[in-house]
This record gives sequence, structure tokens and C-alpha cells, in this order.
Amino acid sequence: MDRDVELLARIIEHTPVGIVLLKPDRSILYVNLLATHLFNSDRESLLGVPIDQCIVDRQGETPLRELLPVVFQGTAGESKVGISRGEKEELTCTLTAFYIGGKQGHEDSVALVFRDITHELKITEQLEKKNVEMARMNTELIRSNMELTRVSEMKSNFLSIASHELKTPLTSIKGYSDIIIDGMKDRVDPGVYRMIESINRAAGRLHKVIDNILDVTRIEQKKLRLKGEKFAIEAVAGDCVEEMAQFAGKRNIAFNKFFDAGLPQFFGDRMRIYQVFTNLFTNAIKFSPDGSAIDVTITVEDNNRFHIAVKDRGIGIDRNEQKNIFSAFYEVADINKHSTDHTKFMGGGTGLGLSIAKGIVERHGGQISVESDGVKKDQFPGSTFHVLLPVHSEASWEALEKDEPAAAVTAEAPADLIPGRGNEEKQALLIIDSDRETVEITRMVLENVFDIIAAPSGELGLALAFQYKPSVVLLNTYLPGLDGFRICTILKSQTETRDTPVVFLSAETARDGIEKCFACGADDFVVKPFGNKELMDKVGRVLMKKKSEMAK
Ligand code: ADP
Repeated sequence: MDRDVELLARIIEHTPVGIVLLKPDRSILYVNLLATHLFNSDRESLLGVPIDQCIVDRQGETPLRELLPVVFQGTAGESKVGISRGEKEELTCTLTAFYIGGKQGHEDSVALVFRDITHELKITEQLEKKNVEMARMNTELIRSNMELTRVSEMKSNFLSIASHELKTPLTSIKGYSDIIIDGMKDRVDPGVYRMIESINRAAGRLHKVIDNILDVTRIEQKKLRLKGEKFAIEAVAGDCVEEMAQFAGKRNIAFNKFFDAGLPQFFGDRMRIYQVFTNLFTNAIKFSPDGSAIDVTITVEDNNRFHIAVKDRGIGIDRNEQKNIFSAFYEVADINKHSTDHTKFMGGGTGLGLSIAKGIVERHGGQISVESDGVKKDQFPGSTFHVLLPVHSEASWEALEKDEPAAAVTAEAPADLIPGRGNEEKQALLIIDSDRETVEITRMVLENVFDIIAAPSGELGLALAFQYKPSVVLLNTYLPGLDGFRICTILKSQTETRDTPVVFLSAETARDGIEKCFACGADDFVVKPFGNKELMDKVGRVLMKKKSEMAK
């Protein structure tokens, strides 16, 4: 038994909490080792000393003053106390105090158990600080993320608006130069004529660049809409090879087709898939030496996906650049790397082709990647672009393609009229377009046949349509006030104008924009900048169609 007591005493002495026993007069009867350490003293100096002298916090308060009288009444209590250890240091401890009743002639006593939590508190405090700091950084990240998204949206909107705005003046450049090329060759100096041809070609190229920028914007804004149909993908690839072979042939570059027999039908947007082939083939030609070959392979893997591989024997692509080339506006930095002693591959494009291809492929639920051994001086390691596209069923395709709700359109026809007719003997053609240049070109192209009436706004155009009942209406989609869609809807809903053919003139090339025109009753659509012949053809065609319908 004595041994047990001795053992217990040793445990209490060395336990990692501070233990103090108090006499009823609150002087110290016993302190264990850790308590002496907490009070920064030794046992001899502490025994018999009132506890309130040992536990004083930094403010000079004796935190046990209120607790102890209560505990001596026979209860227990808990508290958090500060124990000052000199000027600089203060420990924080949790304190549990409980009453020990006197037995067999012993006095009543109170036991105090201290647990030093100074270090724990510091860590908790630091953790809290870190948490606050992290929360602040997180807020900062969210804010910069929002800012980035806003800037990216601004960029996309800017590109989209700028591209539409560029298309309008381009209509004039292309239209006027078409007029000269088609009908004034004899009247223009041959040198000037060549310059005009060059202006016409440049306008055509700029047109393509703008269309690419619009496509990238649509992809970035997740607004690329597809029109699904069933077709043979190898036929589309074959058509594209044929078209490209004209350019490739000039540099003796040959295309080899390896298309698996019995490929399943493809479900997707035929035009957009053609665009993917065009972009890949153009690059393959652009970055290959004269006389080399390009292999186009189409197989089906696991019966559920098409694998298209376009392999060239060209300059290759640096391994570090391979992940970047699919980003919009990215071109491999050093254009000199694109040249050897013999051949220059100044593939100066816009850096948009691959990002558009990626956008289209991903929109079809597929993936695109590149494989190349890198660039080696004066060698042609080549590159292979891989495109994986799912074999869609009609149902899986429909899940991918969402329909845009049709716009609801209603409007009242205004009554005020302004311009009158010039030549009443000719049929009237009404053009409703706020762009003066487009009106002028249309006038030059069609005034031999038609009496042209022009309206710069939707309201006026509508009024003139009811006043003069023109044989045909040319209509821009975007107009100040009443837009082209609403005007067309109104014209097609009224008995007097229902049969008047309406041809839209617009820089809009997005399929959904064009579809919207037809949905509100358009008879045809001409994309700006248009060629003069195209405009004449379309106007002629809608009139012929109307004539044959009237004859029925
Ligand atoms: P670009 O219209 O400028 O060709 P792309 O987006 O089509 O833009 O291609 C981005 C870049 O990737 C190109 O500038 C070129 O450096 C590199 N690249 C693309 N295809 C090939 C290829 N077949 N061989 C070598 N480099 C290529």
C-alpha cells in the first residue's frame, strides 16, 4: 500500500499539469514540479505562501480572488488565468479547482490543476491570422478572376463589334472594286486596273480574317451554334483535299488519302467540319517543303469514335510550343525557325486556325492534339494532328445541340412618308439600310433595272414599303430603331406586302443569325461584303420565284 501511495505521489509530482493544494487560509500546502515551473519559483519558496501572491496577471489582478471562496464552500469551478512571469512573459492556463473535504483530522483543502495553454493559444492565434490572410487572398483571387472574366468578355465584345463594323466599309471596297473589275476594264488604265484587282483580293482576304475573328469570339463566348446532319465524313475530307490540292499542286505537295472502308455516318455540322479540315490542311501545306506528301487517315476506333490524322513532313513543332498553338492569336514566336536555307515557310497567319479547329472539334464532343518530334535544323521531322470525334446517334447529337428560342416580334407600321419614287416606269426596289455606301453600291448595281428607293431607318422603310409596294425589299438586319427582323415579320404578316420578296443584307455570318432571318420570313440572304453578281443573282432569283408562284 505504501508503495502504491509512493507511486501515486511520483505520478502527481511529474504529471504534465501543474497541481497545487491549498489550506483553508489559501496558502500553499503542496506544489508539484510543473506548478513550480509555472510560478517561476522553487518549492521551498512557495510552500506556505498565499496563492494570490503567486498568481497575478499582467494587470496585477489576482484572478482566483472570486473563484476560491466559492470552491471552498464545497464545489468545483473552472477558469482561464493569466500568470505573469516577469515583465515580458505571461502564461495562460486553464484552471480546474475542486474542493477536497478534510477527513480523519485533516483540514479542508482545495486542489488547483493548471494546464499551460500558452503555446496552443499562440498556434491557434497564428492559425487564425493565417486563415484571415488566406480569406483575404481568396477574396483578392475571386476579385481578379472576376476582373479577368470581365476583361475577356470586353475583349470578345470588342472583337465582335469591331469585326461587324469592319465588314461594312469592306462592303464598299469590295463592291466598288467588283463594279470596276466586272464592267469597266476598258475604261481604266491597265496599271490602275491591276491595282484594283489587288485591292479586291486584299478585301477578300480581310473578309476571311474578320470571319475568323468572329468565329473565335463565338467560341470564346460559347456561342458557336452547330447544325447537325448525317453525312459521310470521308466525303467531306475528300472534297476539302480536292480543293486544297490546287494550292498544294503548285508546290508539288501531294495528298494521300487513307480512309477506312465502311466508315459509319457522321452526325454533326458539315460546314464546320469542312472548316476543321481546311485549317489543318492549310497549315500542313504551309509548313511543308515543296515536293513532300501529306497523309490524311480516317479510321473508326472501338466502333464509337472517328480518328482523323493529318500527317505532314514539314518543319515540325517545338515540344514546348505544342500546348500553346491551340490558343487564339498564338503563333510560334520566332518566324526564322520557319525557314531553312532552301525554303522559307513564312506561315504568317493570324494564329486563329487551330484555335477555331479546337473550338469546333470540342463543340462536337471531340478532342484535338498534335504529335511532333520538335524542330530540328534543316530537317523535316513533320507533325501529325489527331482529331477524335464521337460517332453520334441522333439522340446524343441532340443533347449537344440546343435550340435557340425564336424571337417574338410585333410592331406597328408608322404613317409618315418621305422620299418619293423617281422613275415610275421601272419596278421599285426598296433598300432599307443605314449604311450610305451599301445603298450607293446597290444603286450602282441595280439602277439600270429598278427604281431604287432608299430608307436609312426601319420606321421609314416600313412606311415606304406600304406606300410604294416595291417589287423587292433589301433589308439590313441591324438598323437604328425598328430592326430588320421586326420589319420583315411585319411585311410578311400584312396582306398588301406578304408576297413582296425580302432579301436580307447583313454582315452576320453566324448560322443562328441567318436562320433568324429565314424564321421571320426572309426569301434570301446576302452576306456583306457581297459581290455585285451575287446581289443581282439573288434579286433575280427571288423575283423569278415570286413570278412562278403567282402563275400557279
Ligand atoms: P496560323 O493561322 O497563324 O497558321 P494556327 O492557329 O493555324 O495559326 O497555327 C498556330 C501556329 O502553329 C502556326 O503559326 C505555326 O507556328 C504552328 N503550326 C500549325 N500547324 C503546323 C504544322 N502543320 N507544322 C508546323 N507548325 C504548325
